[in-house]
Amino acid sequence: ACRGNTGWKPAWRKAEPSGPYDFIIVGGGGHGLATAYYLAKRYGGKRIAVVEKGWIGGGNVGRNTTIVRSNYLLPGNEPFYECSMKLWEGLEQDINYNAMVSQRGVLNLFHNDAQRAAYIRRGNSMILHGADAVLLDAEAVREKIPFLNFNDARFPIKGGLLQPRGGTVRHDAVAWGYARAADRLGVDIIENCEMTGLRIEQGRAVGIETTKGFIAAGKIGLACAGNSSRVAAMAGLRLPIESHVLQAFVSEGLKPFIDCVVTFGAGHFYISQSDKGGLVFGGDIDGYNSYAQRGNLPVIEDVCEGGMALMPRIGRVRLLRHWGGLMDMSMDGSPIIDHTPVDGLYLNAGWCYGGFKATPASGLCFAHLLARDEPHPVATAYRLDRFARGAVIDEKGMGAQPN
Ligand code: FAD
Repeated sequence: ACRGNTGWKPAWRKAEPSGPYDFIIVGGGGHGLATAYYLAKRYGGKRIAVVEKGWIGGGNVGRNTTIVRSNYLLPGNEPFYECSMKLWEGLEQDINYNAMVSQRGVLNLFHNDAQRAAYIRRGNSMILHGADAVLLDAEAVREKIPFLNFNDARFPIKGGLLQPRGGTVRHDAVAWGYARAADRLGVDIIENCEMTGLRIEQGRAVGIETTKGFIAAGKIGLACAGNSSRVAAMAGLRLPIESHVLQAFVSEGLKPFIDCVVTFGAGHFYISQSDKGGLVFGGDIDGYNSYAQRGNLPVIEDVCEGGMALMPRIGRVRLLRHWGGLMDMSMDGSPIIDHTPVDGLYLNAGWCYGGFKATPASGLCFAHLLARDEPHPVATAYRLDRFARGAVIDEKGMGAQPN
């Protein structure tokens, strides 16, 4: 029994390597843990390990601004993100963990007729793919969030595209929930274990070198987000990915006053309010390549300017904390879930600044690929060779980016 702060049981075992495994997933972020969970649950329960160089929840899965949505336009993207949205809706029951899934709505603001037309088109595409979308005019936005700066000289607010089923999910609970659920299905979660090399024999990956020694595996899945290009280089691969820093910000706690997620693409700013009352917000990536999980001062200024342009009233709010995470920016803004030219080696990468919302579907689709050697039906477009073929899926996603 728990007494005070003693007697707590770990949510998952502290596993040590005991290969050979059928599958090793490199990277214990949201995507790696979800992959292991769905592999164990849906695809035959073989011997599975997740190796993580740090601790569970230390990467982007615990550093993002928690927004989930499926408001995409292109046929390569929308079915995948809607699949993810549906998995979020059943996640807490599925993994038996309170992840604070909150479908409070995601509102993208627009400022002119051209943007309005683009949003109508996107809303229709979403509805055609079974998602939900509602176009709001300026009055309807005003009724919902009266304190926005509607008459800004540069970006007057003309309305917004609302996805009522979008919202937020507590990010680190997703990591802990998937880790616990995967562990209970027998997955070994090996923390403080960094992949340092790949062993290839006769063109086939047979295992990984790690800081805890060699671990043999039948198949290896890379899910290292911001470090994807580094680990792929161990297999001699150069990915169409650059790593950048993205920062997030949380204010002191305030009484509830924003009941949805608002994105202001024109000003590079988006915001929601956590259940604890803190304003959670962010903006653009830092404009240089980096593998460091920390950002720089000019972006803080830029994000705060965006916030003041949209909501002058937050000028007197105090910033409590901020941090940076590592974005694996693909060249068309869309991800890769595919096998690599090395037999037995598979890649899950290129999530840019929008991979949290993809966590369940990414795990499901990567598990499907690893188990069956064919893409899941909702992820057929996410091929590695699409850049060479010119079949790019050019959609940056709707965060703080202008459209
Ligand atoms: P991670 O948690 O980073 O997992 C990758 C893991 O691989 C890490 O734990 C790392 O330590 C490990 N690793 C790396 N190299 C090795 C190695 N050699 N050996 C072993 N392990 C290794 N997305 C949204 O959808 N909505 C948002 O609101 C949102 N906001 C964001 C805000 C910020 C500030 C940031 C930083 C990101 C945001 N994102 C958002 C993006 C999202 O967080 C990421 O795309 C997603 O979390 C990446 O997948 P992951 O969870 O698996 O990554």
